[in-house]
Amino acid sequence: MAIKEYTVLTMIPQANGQTRALLRCPFCQNETWAYHWSLAGSGKKCQCGAKFNPSGTATKEQ
Ligand SMILES: [Zn+2]
Repeated sequence: MAIKEYTVLTMIPQANGQTRALLRCPFCQNETWAYHWSLAGSGKKCQCGAKFNPSGTATKEQ
């Protein structure tokens, strides 16, 4: 299990009260949009298999 901090490039509040965040994966550098609440729930996965956690880190099975 590898752990790296991911980068939040921007956060945009939505009209429905949710917040969308643009995240950069620290493993593959891919940029992914995620709803902030989804990070605290089931989490958001990158195309490379890394998982974004609400604490600001991403984890990936090696
Ligand atoms: Zn990735």
